[in-house]
Amino acid sequence: MDRRTFGLLVARALAGGAATHATTARWLTASAATPFVPQLRPQPIDGYGLNPYQAIITIDDAPDEIGPDGENQTIKMARYLHSYRDDRHPNGISATFFVVGCHFLGQPPPDPRSWICGGRIGTQPLRSLWELNALGHTVGNHTQDHIPLVGLTGDEVRYQVGHWQRFLDRFQRNGLRLLRTPGLGYSEDTFRELIADPDLWKLTGPIDQDAGGQGYIDGKWIRGDWDAYRLGYSAIKSSELYVRAATETTICKGHGPVILFHARTEYMDGSDGSGNFPLDLLRNTVERLTGIGYEFVPITAIPGILPEDDDEPPSPRKKDRKEP
Ligand SMILES: [Zn+2]
Repeated sequence: MDRRTFGLLVARALAGGAATHATTARWLTASAATPFVPQLRPQPIDGYGLNPYQAIITIDDAPDEIGPDGENQTIKMARYLHSYRDDRHPNGISATFFVVGCHFLGQPPPDPRSWICGGRIGTQPLRSLWELNALGHTVGNHTQDHIPLVGLTGDEVRYQVGHWQRFLDRFQRNGLRLLRTPGLGYSEDTFRELIADPDLWKLTGPIDQDAGGQGYIDGKWIRGDWDAYRLGYSAIKSSELYVRAATETTICKGHGPVILFHARTEYMDGSDGSGNFPLDLLRNTVERLTGIGYEFVPITAIPGILPEDDDEPPSPRKKDRKEP
């Protein structure tokens, strides 16, 4: 889609939004001094524009199940980052957790096509999101049931994003309502459905990733942390791939990476004997990357991501990439 077509779609969405505002714009409200700027992009947003040694931590599929010690990996990762200290991080590290609606109490039964909602439906209280906020982290929309949006009907796309957004809205800061689609799946149709909705065009995203722990171990292609775990590799081995992917982003693309981890303990319930694969992986990766000069910055460091800072053009991206 060229910029002119995009501009026309945005103009149409704005006109539609204004006409239906009184009855439908219920939950995305801004102060009168901050007019909305459409932030949903036709192509995903990565770390384009970051300084090469800046990195952003994103954690998907949160919150995971409570483990035998009474806590989940999500909160352990959140606390670790909050309490991390060195010269470049005197106040800790702020990450973005992309959360899934079906993991929370009081949500409707999940769509049977869900990849990750089975077996742990509705176990988390919504108030647990306050703790992520209190630890300095951002919370983003990873859809209601975590099914790929590409190929869904318009109503299904709007339900998967919009139903969950109504709950999430109170936990999101800076007028910033972030979207990351499951498996990073996103098409022109997905964009068209969301940008035409009187509420959902105001989301920011979809947020892409630059470094997701993909690479070779022992000649075998690993697709990410979940795949390394599935194949029996340790958090330390997986961390080596994360560091390689992050530095390759810096070298090849000339900007810092958006890094993608998962808090998904129904598949990652142990590593290295500690039972904390996602936490161990995060800790190893943070320590290695800070050791070679990286600084972890909040997701708002991406140029153009905040509404008042919308002059930056979206970065050119491939579409429809698949990754669980
Ligand atoms: Zn996911």
